[in-house]
Amino acid sequence: MKKITVAKGDGIGPEIMDATLQILQAAGAQLDIEEIEIGEKVYLKGNSAGIEPEAWESLRRTKVFLKAPITTPQGGGFKSLNVTTRKVLGLFANVRPCVSYHPFVQTKHPVMDVVIIRENEEDLYAGIEHRQTDEVYQCLKLISRPGTEKIIRYAFEYAKAYRRKKVTCFTKDNIMKMTDGLFHKVFDEVGAEYPEIEQEHWIVDIGAAKLADTPEMFDVIVMPNLYGDILSDVAAQITGSVGLAGSANIGDGFAMFEAIHGSAPRIAGTNKANPSGLLLGAIQMLVHIGQTEVAEKIQNAWLKTLEDGVHTYDIYKEGVSRESRGTKEFAEAVIERLGEKPALLKPVKYASSIANFNIKVTEQKPAKKELKGVDVFLHAANISPNILAGMIQVASMGEELQLLMITNRGTKVWPNGFPETFCTDHWRCRFKKNEGKDTIPYDKVLTLMNKLHEAGHQIIKTENLYYFDGEPGFTAAQGQ
Ligand code: NAD
Repeated sequence: MKKITVAKGDGIGPEIMDATLQILQAAGAQLDIEEIEIGEKVYLKGNSAGIEPEAWESLRRTKVFLKAPITTPQGGGFKSLNVTTRKVLGLFANVRPCVSYHPFVQTKHPVMDVVIIRENEEDLYAGIEHRQTDEVYQCLKLISRPGTEKIIRYAFEYAKAYRRKKVTCFTKDNIMKMTDGLFHKVFDEVGAEYPEIEQEHWIVDIGAAKLADTPEMFDVIVMPNLYGDILSDVAAQITGSVGLAGSANIGDGFAMFEAIHGSAPRIAGTNKANPSGLLLGAIQMLVHIGQTEVAEKIQNAWLKTLEDGVHTYDIYKEGVSRESRGTKEFAEAVIERLGEKPALLKPVKYASSIANFNIKVTEQKPAKKELKGVDVFLHAANISPNILAGMIQVASMGEELQLLMITNRGTKVWPNGFPETFCTDHWRCRFKKNEGKDTIPYDKVLTLMNKLHEAGHQIIKTENLYYFDGEPGFTAAQGQ
């Protein structure tokens, strides 16, 4: 018996969870279930996280969470329970298989079997946002080397375990050379350890277009958080329905399994919802906890049910489907077929050792880090770049750190800027030491800041300009 934690959630959650658990039980899954309450009721009791301390205790005990969708109440102050759970439990990998079931479920892409592996903890989802001036807001995009190595390694280990042939990486490293550049670089480095697996990198815009147009050319795709969030929904939708996709959130010690859709409040309580997304999430869970034979038995019976044309209303189509069934009756149809295999769709077979990958992060030696300058961000309205530069030069006269350039929204506007460049009230002023590449003590930055402050400049923030083992840890400006 494996202890797991189950939450029935909101809206259609209880109906699809009951249907799923019924199928799991009938198939002989060895589960000892602890039920917790999360979501709307907990939020409305005044708990802004949507989850009580006792529920965390259960999760810590079982380390495996099967979760139905929840409703996040409208209005401010309520934190996304999904994001909290992922971050608190360190669920770094989001795994979404997106498969089409042609000709039994209508799709424009009859040949599609893609697994999206999305980094789940970093990137713009760190949620560090600031308003800095009247006109400008900022969201920090954080990409770490260990975070990237974990997700890339996970993608290659997944491909190996599931006998996939190719891993593709999507980034936008032609623009974000440092953050997405790191993701691409680590993909190449880690990929070199898996020569048996084909590997390729696409810039995310054209990669996304190809995925939506020709999904059959992809196998496993690994990407940073934001692109993965968007594209995993696109990929699930083009298989025929988002209602048909499950998802696993995997961490070092914990894992959470769910459907990708929400709580569909409009059809709640009507016995209409398709339980397939949650069922496929539960199948991923069975594989994860090593109950692979039960996982296979359920998935094959489910494929046979689709093949027999027994469909819930969302995928029911005259001429293709045979019977439209409610949630409960669909679950019964799957149970009736336990032990059967699909005739046309490919039956699944999971190797018994598939479950747990050993994801290790390579230890990195700390680099030699040298301070060479500073970017000072200023708030200044209704001013021309040349006048601003003149004022800064006067304020910083005699300092070792000298003004090298000014950019506005990343584009160089001084020296030799174009008068046509649109400027906001948010300026980045780059200071470097005049001669050579010597390291400067941080005191010089503080002295400069004091002088700028005394001269009446509004400093929003600074970013130090470091070299790491002789390589610049910052980018040049557009137009520099
Ligand atoms: P939704 O996924 O609940 O519904 C979108 C559409 O798909 C609706 O027309 C719905 O009827 C249909 N649908 C969804 N699941 C279905 C199923 N299993 N069978 C048949 N039809 C199905 O998205 P939404 O309406 O944007 O959000 C509703 C609520 O769900 C919101 O409160 C949102 O915050 C929440 N939500 C929760 C999760 C989660 O818990 N993981 C994810 C997304 C949205």
